[in-house]
Amino acid sequence: MYKVLIDAGHGGKDPGAVANGIQEKDITLKVSFGIKQRLEADYEKVQVLLSRSTDVFLELKERTAKANASGADILVSIHCNAGGGKGGFETFRYTSASQASIKLQDTLHKAIMAKMGGTDRGQKAQNLHMVRESNMPAVLTENLFVDVATDADRLKQASVIDAIIDGHVQGIATYLGLKSKGKEVKSVTQERNINAPSGWAKETWEELTKKGFFDGTRPGAPITREEIAIVVGRVLKYVEQKG
Ligand SMILES: [Zn+2]
Repeated sequence: MYKVLIDAGHGGKDPGAVANGIQEKDITLKVSFGIKQRLEADYEKVQVLLSRSTDVFLELKERTAKANASGADILVSIHCNAGGGKGGFETFRYTSASQASIKLQDTLHKAIMAKMGGTDRGQKAQNLHMVRESNMPAVLTENLFVDVATDADRLKQASVIDAIIDGHVQGIATYLGLKSKGKEVKSVTQERNINAPSGWAKETWEELTKKGFFDGTRPGAPITREEIAIVVGRVLKYVEQKG
């Protein structure tokens, strides 16, 4: 079981960057929840721990102490940027980061840019508490600028928040080599022979085909509304004749 610590930046009395009707702390919490939900729903053997799950203030040292005590395999700290200019996306590792942190940053950065698009401000190194004091590979993501109008407009769109969440999920899954639950289900469905009835349905299928309700072909195929209408029509005619 892999453990991923997602750190939602700011919170409580510290709203982070505030502009254009957006508070950074709200975006970081929303994105963190989304990452937890999607990663645990879509991938096997992964647990996501959140440094905060409510609008509460935490000191930076409380966040890294919690992460280090949790035994998490990686840490990703979620933020939005401010400072004007053109806006865009950037990520940070520690100035003397481990090879693992550099790889985590590269994988995450590329996955998020691929989903989100826009201006790529690059993979950067800085002496930031969250990436310095974490014992595990750690990266901090700066997801668009709340004080740049075009970025703020994007942060107000559910599809952009979705893309930010998806990018993080994809990057984390790739870095850890997580196995997707969805793909397995799909391949089982695709392997099914739609021309042969399932064992549990075979007897009824053949009986109803004999009575003329179905034409006997493609028992495993999905059904359309019009096909159901035809079958209902045949049933009604059958009931009328009986009655
Ligand atoms: Zn921040």
